[in-house]
Amino acid sequence: MKIYADNAATTKMSKKAVETMFYHVENTFGNPSSLYEVGQRAKEVLEQAREDVAKVINAEPGEIYFTSGGSEADNQAILTAAELGRQKGKKHIISSAFEHHAVLHTLNKLEKQGFEITLLDVHENGIVSPKELENAIREDTALVTIMFANNEIGTIQPIREIGEICRKHGVLFHTDAVQAVGHVLVDVKADNIDMLSSSAHKFHGPKGVGFLYVKKGIRLQNLIEGGAQEKGKRAGTENLPSIAAAAEALKEAYSKIDENSEKLTKLRNKLIKGLAEIPHSALNGDAEHRLPGNVNFCFEGIEGESLLLLLDDKGICASSGSACTSGDLDPSHVLLAIGRVHDVAHGSLRLSLGEDITDEEVDYIVKSTKEVVDYLRGFSPIWRDLVSGKGKFIL
Ligand SMILES: *Cc1c(COP(=O)(O)O)cnc(C)c1O
Repeated sequence: MKIYADNAATTKMSKKAVETMFYHVENTFGNPSSLYEVGQRAKEVLEQAREDVAKVINAEPGEIYFTSGGSEADNQAILTAAELGRQKGKKHIISSAFEHHAVLHTLNKLEKQGFEITLLDVHENGIVSPKELENAIREDTALVTIMFANNEIGTIQPIREIGEICRKHGVLFHTDAVQAVGHVLVDVKADNIDMLSSSAHKFHGPKGVGFLYVKKGIRLQNLIEGGAQEKGKRAGTENLPSIAAAAEALKEAYSKIDENSEKLTKLRNKLIKGLAEIPHSALNGDAEHRLPGNVNFCFEGIEGESLLLLLDDKGICASSGSACTSGDLDPSHVLLAIGRVHDVAHGSLRLSLGEDITDEEVDYIVKSTKEVVDYLRGFSPIWRDLVSGKGKFIL
């Protein structure tokens, strides 16, 4: 059996997205900036993609800027808000402790430039408290940036409420919605979102393409200077085949969002129930307010890395923490942010299910994980100490 359960790291491109991409690679080679017909045809494809993407998140086409992915969109949104704040003497930014590194590292950079950063606690359930957020807002707050759904533990944030608070206080609100778009309903108007980042390879589109939504009236700052593409806010000839494929993938995901969500939620809950039978284990993050396909567990007394390798031997692709941090010796900053101690955080497993997962595959994952955890505990010195009473169980 081969089961891909690492959809939070990246997804397989949908057949339609692949076909769309190939079609445009072959047939739409013109430069959208060229005035002759071949160029103008490319321009039409580009603008159709913009319209399609805008529609899914209830934005206007003019509010969508295509980027190279989620990281670029995060950088551009945050640096824009910082620059606009700087012009008004506002040097305070609010975010959370468990954001993606594309956000956290950008904030680190701004801190070195004199910005003050408040990182909100995300509590044991992995959810930001809107009340605490409101209390953190100051006269000089330039930006609130809170992710829509966490990429490791899948928890969904009270975005609409946060957006309302920001609107009320006249503070810009950006959300990294890379894990949310195409998976849960996102409505930038109803959710009071000023800027939103998204990435196609997380919703069965190609890698290296994403978009930034910027509410009309906000003066977006360039990261890349050059030509007048994307209304002069993102220079460089557009990656047309990828942009068209991204829009196709998003339309497709959106058209099936309810049935996929219902199916995934059911199988996710079954997987959680099965894994919870493993002694001294715990689900990470709120059980209900989480992405339909996300399961994240800690198992005491083992190393997540060994768990992954042995699951791989059984044909299961999973992750421990995020792909960006594997190779790091420190445990995931997300798990530390929800209060897991180092030893426990090291024994983590993320399974992010895809829409094609079956009931039998979930059974197989549960059975395999039980076997592998048992096996690893069998020669873990930490586990031996725990069992003998020399160490103390936390979970
Ligand atoms: C994957 C991811 C990103 C980065 O997106 P890329 O397109 O890979 O740059 C940013 N934020 C979150 C929450 C993600 O899951």
